[in-house]
Amino acid sequence: MKRKILPKFFLLYMCIIGISILLVLSFANQSFKGVLIKEKQSAMQKEAKLIARQYARDYFSGDMSTRRLSQYFSELDSLLNSEVWLCDQEGVIVITSSEEEEQILNKNIKDIRKDVDLERTFRTAGTFSHSFDEDMISTGRPISLSGELVGYIILHSPISTLSSTQAGITKATYVALGILLIVIFILMYYFSHKILVPIGEINHAARQYAKGNFDTLIPIERTDEIGELASSLNFMASELSKTEQYRKDFISNISHDFRSPLTSIKGYLEAMLDGTIPPELYERYLGVLLDETKRLTKLTEGLVALKTLNGNAPMLKLSNFDMIKTIHSTINTFEGQCNTKQIRIHLFSPLQSCMVRADKIKMEQVVYNLIDNAIKFSKPGGEIRISVTELNHNKVSISIKDNGIGIPRSEQSHIWERFYKVDNSRGKDKKSHGIGLAITKEIIHAHNEQINLISTVNVGSEFVFTLTKAKS
Ligand code: ADP
Repeated sequence: MKRKILPKFFLLYMCIIGISILLVLSFANQSFKGVLIKEKQSAMQKEAKLIARQYARDYFSGDMSTRRLSQYFSELDSLLNSEVWLCDQEGVIVITSSEEEEQILNKNIKDIRKDVDLERTFRTAGTFSHSFDEDMISTGRPISLSGELVGYIILHSPISTLSSTQAGITKATYVALGILLIVIFILMYYFSHKILVPIGEINHAARQYAKGNFDTLIPIERTDEIGELASSLNFMASELSKTEQYRKDFISNISHDFRSPLTSIKGYLEAMLDGTIPPELYERYLGVLLDETKRLTKLTEGLVALKTLNGNAPMLKLSNFDMIKTIHSTINTFEGQCNTKQIRIHLFSPLQSCMVRADKIKMEQVVYNLIDNAIKFSKPGGEIRISVTELNHNKVSISIKDNGIGIPRSEQSHIWERFYKVDNSRGKDKKSHGIGLAITKEIIHAHNEQINLISTVNVGSEFVFTLTKAKS
C-alpha cells in the first residue's frame, strides 16, 4: 500500500513551520536592528555629553589647544569607531577626528543639515546628507559655557559596526529555531506515526472484511477515538461473522429441509410411473405424497412467518378471549396423531375459564407449536400435561409438559434459534424444521411476555409462558 498521507502531512507542516520561522526571523531582525540603533544612539549621546563637558569646554575657554583636542578626537575615533566633529557657535566645523573628513572643515553644519535643530540634542540615521558613503548613526548636542552657547559636538558611527552584533544574535536565533525545527520534526513524525499506523491496520482489516474474512482482528488497544473505532470495527466484524455463519446455516438447513420431501415425492412419482407401485396401492402412496407436500407447505409458511416477525414486533390484533377454550380446541386438532402414537393429553386448571388479552390467532399458533413438539418428541404411550395457573399481578402461566426424550442442557439455549434442531432428534423425527420455537418465542416476546424451558434428557420437557389477564 502506498502511504500518501504522511508525506503530505510533513510537507504541509514543514511549509507552515518554514514560513513561520522566516516571518519570525525577518521581524526579529528588524526589531533587533531598531533596538541596536537606539542603544548605539544613547551610548553615543553619553559620549557626546562627556566630550562636551570634559574637553570642548576647555577648548572653548582656551584651556586646550586645537591640536591637543584634534589629537584627542583621533584617539576617540579609533577607540570608539566614532567620527567626531566640533563646530563653533555659528555652526562652522572647526575640528574633525578623521583626516579623511578634513574636506568638511570650515563648512557650516547648518547648511549641511537644515532640517536638524542643533539647539537641542538630536539623533539621526543615514548618510548625513551625503557627507558619508555609508549609513551612519549620528547624534549631536549644543555646548554651553556659563549658560552661553559656544558650539556643537556631533558624533557619527557607521551602522555597519552593529552588523556583527546583529549577525551574532541572528546566528543564535537560527540555532534556536533549527533545534526547534528538529524537535518539531521528531514530535510530528512520532505523532503522525501513532495515528497513521493504526489507520493502516484498520484499512487492512476493512479490506479483509470486504473479502469476507471476518477473523481479522484489529490489534489496537487504545482508549482514544482510534481505539474506539478499532473496537467498533472488531465488534462489527464479529457480528458480520455471526450473520455470515447464520446465512450459511440457513441455506444448508433450508436446502436440506426442502430436498428430503422433494426426493421422496420424486421417488414415489417415478415408482408410480414405471409401475413399481401398482395402481391398487396408489391411494396409500398418494396419502404419503400429500403428507410430504403438507410438510413443504408448513416449512414455507414457517419461513413466511419468520420473515414477517423478523426482528420487528408483529402487528398484534389484541382481543380478550378464553385461553382454556383455545387450548381445548387446539388439543382437538391433534386427536389423530395422539391416537396413532397412543399419547394422552390432559388439561389441568383450577379455573373454568381464563380470559386473557392477546392475539388469539398467534396464541393458537404458540399452543399448536408446543403441543406439536410435545407429541413429536414423546415416546409412544407418553403423556402430555397442560396446566393454566393464575399468577400474581394479573398474569397467568401456561405450562405444556411432556415425558418425552428431553433436551440436553447444552442445547437448551439454542433451541430458540431459527433452524436449530437438537442433533439426536433430527434422526428421530424428520418432520422437524427448527423454526417452530423461534416463531413461538418471537410471538411471546412481541406480547412482552416470557417463555422458559425446563427439561431433562429421557425425563421430559416443560415449556412455560406467561400471558396478561383481560381486565374484567
Ligand atoms: P420444529 O419447527 O421442527 O418443531 P422447533 O423450533 O419447534 O422445531 O424445535 C427445535 C428443536 O427443539 C427440535 O428440533 C427439537 O430438537 C427440540 N425440541 C423442541 N421441543 C421439544 C420437546 N418437547 N422435547 C424434546 N425436544 C424438543
